[in-house]
Amino acid sequence: MLTEIRHKFNVSEIRKDFPILNRIVSGKPLIYLDNAATTQKPECVINVISHYYRNFNSNIHRGVYSISAKASEEFDYARKTVRNFIGAKSESEIIFTRGTTEAINLVAYSYGRTNVSEGDEILISAMEHHANIVPWQVLCEEKKARLKIIPITDKGEIILEEYEKLLNEKVKLVAVCHVSNTLGTVNPVKQMISLAHRQEIPVLVDGAQAVQHMKVDVDDLDADFYCFSSHKVYGPMGIGVLYGKSSCLEFMPPYQTGGDMISSVSFEKTTYNELPMKFEAGTPNVEGAIGLKEALDYVNRIGIENIAGYEKELLEYASYKLSAVEGIKIIGTAAEKTSVISFVVNKLNALDIGLMLDTYGVCVRTGHHCTEPLMKRFQIPGTVRVSISFYNTKEEIDYFADSLNKVIERLRK
Ligand code: PMP
Repeated sequence: MLTEIRHKFNVSEIRKDFPILNRIVSGKPLIYLDNAATTQKPECVINVISHYYRNFNSNIHRGVYSISAKASEEFDYARKTVRNFIGAKSESEIIFTRGTTEAINLVAYSYGRTNVSEGDEILISAMEHHANIVPWQVLCEEKKARLKIIPITDKGEIILEEYEKLLNEKVKLVAVCHVSNTLGTVNPVKQMISLAHRQEIPVLVDGAQAVQHMKVDVDDLDADFYCFSSHKVYGPMGIGVLYGKSSCLEFMPPYQTGGDMISSVSFEKTTYNELPMKFEAGTPNVEGAIGLKEALDYVNRIGIENIAGYEKELLEYASYKLSAVEGIKIIGTAAEKTSVISFVVNKLNALDIGLMLDTYGVCVRTGHHCTEPLMKRFQIPGTVRVSISFYNTKEEIDYFADSLNKVIERLRK
């Protein structure tokens, strides 16, 4: 039985960093348990964006004046911070995108359209987010290639033997999530990459639900591509990262064209810029990069291991509290999980539960969580999903579990 949080973690101090956590919504303190959808922002991130606009807003890499030089310097520094955060070898392997979705689309468009042809195969898992399904589906339709699905167990774990069987010379790419946004499953991506590499198959890892929960080292994983979104790791929306090995990126054509991604343009011929600019057409999201850098610095100050340790305890506590709720079934019971719990309650509609929890000030997500094929796999229309961050508390989990019991009682009347 788990009754106390043992990890040394000063959550009340941490909560002071997040202004939104003090809000009263509909007369109730805000209990934010939808962190897999997006995370809240610490004051330092909010301030750094405001500071940028108040003091040195300007376009980068062009201005000859000092505030543009400062903006360029901060933008470039953000890339360096991202590189260190995920253990990439070089800043030229870090491409800023709008988010995970755009990063995957970039690879599908650029790598996919040059390397995939009729009869080839792309492998994805049964637990992928739509962002890591649809771009591959469109590519396969266009190229007359086949999208193949790595099956999962009832616990929500990838069946490695089946995965191994699917690897063959026709497979041109494996695209798999590091962590499932619906089940919380942590996939054995290092092992999966090593198995794929034995047959020289590159691997893209969708890290949208991983970098905020665990130490990620792309070099150690040996990932060919790795992507994530800033807004899920305490940074601003509208910016994300595609890491790509330079040996892959060098040979890929641009994804979008225009200013900045060129080296020289004439009406006869255009030559492209070096990495990473080759993949960053147009004015970038400067405020986003600066905000993301601040968010990663913030996470580093707290320590990702401390975050992981505390979140693990909250996950255990919340799983224990939820298992006592009558008629509940937790979907996703993998041995390795991050702090995400999806569940269904006997005969009750997930949306009704979510809407009623809101009247208690509790924010959770309901529905298919952009993983419709996964819902089909479990033969359910949707789940209620609770996703926990390091600023959540045991008291919030208690309040949530009490509110859930009251909601169920009201819905059963
Ligand atoms: N992949 C996973 C696993 C996700 O959870 C999400 C966001 N829910 C995405 C991809 C897409 O991220 P974004 O909407 O930030 O591009």
